[in-house]
Amino acid sequence: MIKNYEHCRLSLLKLDVKSNIRFQRQDINLLSEVFEKERYEKAATVDPLTGALNRRKYTELSAMLIAQCQRYHHPLSMMMLDIDFFKAINDTYGHAKGDVVLQKLVQTCQKTIRDTDILVRFGGEEFLILTPETKPNEAVKLAERIRNDISDLRIPHDEGTISLTVSIGVANWHKDLSASDLEHMADNALYEAKNTGRNRVVQFIA
Ligand code: GH3
Ligand code: MG
Ligand code: MG
Repeated sequence: MIKNYEHCRLSLLKLDVKSNIRFQRQDINLLSEVFEKERYEKAATVDPLTGALNRRKYTELSAMLIAQCQRYHHPLSMMMLDIDFFKAINDTYGHAKGDVVLQKLVQTCQKTIRDTDILVRFGGEEFLILTPETKPNEAVKLAERIRNDISDLRIPHDEGTISLTVSIGVANWHKDLSASDLEHMADNALYEAKNTGRNRVVQFIA
């Protein structure tokens, strides 16, 4: 009788341990699926070097934002930002240090902009910032702050430091403009900033 009882007790205990292990395995599988999905989504939306959003995500977000502005008549501005003489930075300090410069630039922009602003790596050393709820004069002030913060950066290199400047073109959205209209306007203003001495903010005026 006692022997039977002990046999039964041990069997139940084994069953319990087995099912516990099974549940734990299921939890682990579920968790790794969630991590995998997050990793995949991040890779599809974020530039791996700098952490800024990529152009694909920008295209999706800008269309949504502009549709909202069109419907509710809210302000929206765009900045196009390009590093001045970046090729010379690469040539002087090496491509790897150039990559660090790109990362520091993005961190600096991220500190200055709002959580609701959208920072995009638009090209190699060209970035775009979409600022919802930002009127034209506020956008210029923000661009000036970013330009200033970047020119204050000192990036360590061997015994010295690297400094850099950016030129920024600002465009302000108004009724019926598309994202690509805004890009053209910001790009024109950026071109003027480059042609008039660099390390400048220029606002597009029609
Ligand atoms: P400007 O003031 O007219 O903008 O001059 P610039 O030298 O910045 O312009 P240019 O277009 O001649 O050079 C851009 C450089 O950016 C060339 C390219 O090698 C570099 N670049 C593009 N993407 C990357 C990157 O991911 N990492 C690094 N380190 N360099 C990059
Ligand atoms: Mg450049
Ligand atoms: Mg460029």
